[in-house]
Amino acid sequence: MPNFNSFQELLHYCQEKHCSISEAALQYEEAYSGKNREEILSGMRVILQQMRDTVESGIHSEEKSMSGLTGGDAKRIMDFMNQPQCFLSPVEMKMIAYGLATLEENSRMKRIVACPTAGGSGSVPAALIAVEQDRQVPPEQTLKGLITAGVIGEITARRMFLSGSAAGCQAEVGVASGMAAGGLVEMMGGSPTQVVHAAAISMQNLMGLVCDPVAGLVEVPCVVRNGLSGVQASAAATMALAGIQSFVPMDEVVEAMAAVGKLMHPSLKETAEGGLAQTPSAKAFTERFKAPQTLGEIMEAKPD
Ligand code: SF4
Repeated sequence: MPNFNSFQELLHYCQEKHCSISEAALQYEEAYSGKNREEILSGMRVILQQMRDTVESGIHSEEKSMSGLTGGDAKRIMDFMNQPQCFLSPVEMKMIAYGLATLEENSRMKRIVACPTAGGSGSVPAALIAVEQDRQVPPEQTLKGLITAGVIGEITARRMFLSGSAAGCQAEVGVASGMAAGGLVEMMGGSPTQVVHAAAISMQNLMGLVCDPVAGLVEVPCVVRNGLSGVQASAAATMALAGIQSFVPMDEVVEAMAAVGKLMHPSLKETAEGGLAQTPSAKAFTERFKAPQTLGEIMEAKPD
């Protein structure tokens, strides 16, 4: 059983065995984890259910985060879905709402599934669950999409650090969007090659994205980036399913992203010393928010 250290190796295996990426992943797990197929699948079902639970609670909640910076936008999108001014389709609106919902729950310190990280946790559930509901995809097919997303994250993580502090937001939301795009293609019955092209297309569009959280909190711009990345992933998946290919192979996209991460200035890697975190609005909030000692000071620091 190969170790799948590259996407090329993975695609070669799928071609040789005439299998999908999720099937290759299951065979890999059976070979190396010491678990049988049913144990592996039941673990993945638990993860998918947690994603559903997070989305479900998040889209109904108006609760603000501890800082008061975020909270309630997922519900706003759900409420706006049937308004005459809404020009996006219901599935796109759900993708936005579900991505926002997941990150808002993260900001409220509720349970989320890091995918690949907490800051990037919205894209995969947003894309997969919204499409599942819209197209009445059987849950077991969604599970295959999630497994595929996991493989994309895993192989990418072997080539670069997946954290904003190491490589910027491209390594969190950017990689998450690639995972979601590939997962969607598998879910919709696309080929392994299309899965990998979708991931490459989505990730190259977010290459260079900096990590610039206001006050160092995983809220602004993290929540809205997750609201948007599921929609971007679905667009990349659609492009791949239509036959569009990434000119640069996925392995090279990952290498390029890792190189960009190394070139990125430290002020743009989760230090809150650059980007949006250094705008006047962000600095004013940070000044009010930093190190409050009492509950009264915390309440005072909250925006209206
Ligand atoms: S901006 Fe930074 S903290 Fe926020 S999601 Fe992106 S990588 Fe994570």
